[in-house]
Amino acid sequence: MRSSLARICLPLVGAALLFACGEAAPRNTEGPAAGGGDSADANASHTHDLRSFGRDLDHAVEIAPNVYQARGTGNAHVIATPAGRVVFDTGLPTEADEHREKLDALDAGPITHLILSHAHQDHYGGFESFRDEGTEVIAHSEFPETQRYLYELVPALMRRNKFFYPTDVPDLPDGILGAAVKAIYPVVEPDRLVADRYEFEVGGTRFVVLATPGAEGADALSLWLPKEKILFAGDTFGPIFPMFPNLTTIRGEKFRFAVPYIETLEMLIALEPELVVPSHFAPIAGKEEIKADLVRMRDAVRYVHDATVEGMNDGKDVYTLMSEIKLPPGLELSQAHGTVPWTVRGIYEAYATWFHFDDTTQLYAVPAREVWADVSELAGAQALAARAAEYTAAAEPEKALHLAAMALGGAPDNHAALQARIEALEFLLERSGHVNHHEQTFLERKIEQTRESLGD
Ligand SMILES: [Zn+2]
Repeated sequence: MRSSLARICLPLVGAALLFACGEAAPRNTEGPAAGGGDSADANASHTHDLRSFGRDLDHAVEIAPNVYQARGTGNAHVIATPAGRVVFDTGLPTEADEHREKLDALDAGPITHLILSHAHQDHYGGFESFRDEGTEVIAHSEFPETQRYLYELVPALMRRNKFFYPTDVPDLPDGILGAAVKAIYPVVEPDRLVADRYEFEVGGTRFVVLATPGAEGADALSLWLPKEKILFAGDTFGPIFPMFPNLTTIRGEKFRFAVPYIETLEMLIALEPELVVPSHFAPIAGKEEIKADLVRMRDAVRYVHDATVEGMNDGKDVYTLMSEIKLPPGLELSQAHGTVPWTVRGIYEAYATWFHFDDTTQLYAVPAREVWADVSELAGAQALAARAAEYTAAAEPEKALHLAAMALGGAPDNHAALQARIEALEFLLERSGHVNHHEQTFLERKIEQTRESLGD
């Protein structure tokens, strides 16, 4: 039973559930790339990568003396010592056996420790492939809670993933799909939980496990090799280094908090790493460039956090802040994964909840869309659609979307309203510059769906 479910769901496990942090294709380089992302083209250069799937190299690479990386959708790393190996992250359940084979080919010592960077499956999901007799499995003290809620919410989150990646998720009825995924969901019980810091030594190498709550959640661990000055970052920074963090993922997950992330960046800046090894893509080398990137990331997040708090204190509403707050010159970063406006809203709501204190209807279970049919009847779907088209023509596609929704609320098949919705969505897609892969995919899917309704 288990294996047949696994067959059904492997694509889904590989493609959808695990996109907890962001799907990533490796760069073409084998060894470490130079640090210091070019902020001017940072957005443009990574967008396509984020929409691709991992493509493994056919062998593991030595990224520093006795440090090996198997690269895939999620990377796995080995630090080899004369007394055994320490592993950091495993990659997906579907790629971990292959990662292990490639890594074993370079050093086959016993695995003494397995460190899991966080409870996203592209990082810990392959734990069974790397946990041997006597291996100590180490995770953050928040790991079990993250694993619990992600497991419990499989059906809900699966629906969202299916929207983003329709061809990768099997077309099964909701209930069956959710149950099937739960049946093969990897659940690990770590041997050691780290809330702050844990140090150990293997074969003369010193290992420092650090709690680094970050861009992908509160349960992030990094591994620091103090003598070698190497930082294994997991997804502490998100899938690309450097980038603006995805503190609110629209796939649905708990909020990730700005201030703990700023504190993490402060701590990592002080370490002065010479090689950053994220669990996606190739490592990044260069002490000065890495420091400059870390500082820019810290300052960008701090700027957005402080501007949001200031705006809240000034009595500004969340929409005003989403539109006003922009990264100042010098602090630009890729927004391929998370965006500044979504982060502003995330910070606002993480502090002050979903009730924005301005609209009484937010307190009750009757949303505005329940009166759209009335609006459509009173104003006429044609008139609403015509005004929507005018708004798009005037570069205000968000207003056009509202009006199209009102028109369609009373007349779901209205041709002009469906057409107006498509035009607004296409305008937004064009204006987005195809930078953020979540935004782009969402808009593309909505366009597709609306075209289907039009019978195109
Ligand atoms: Zn990841």
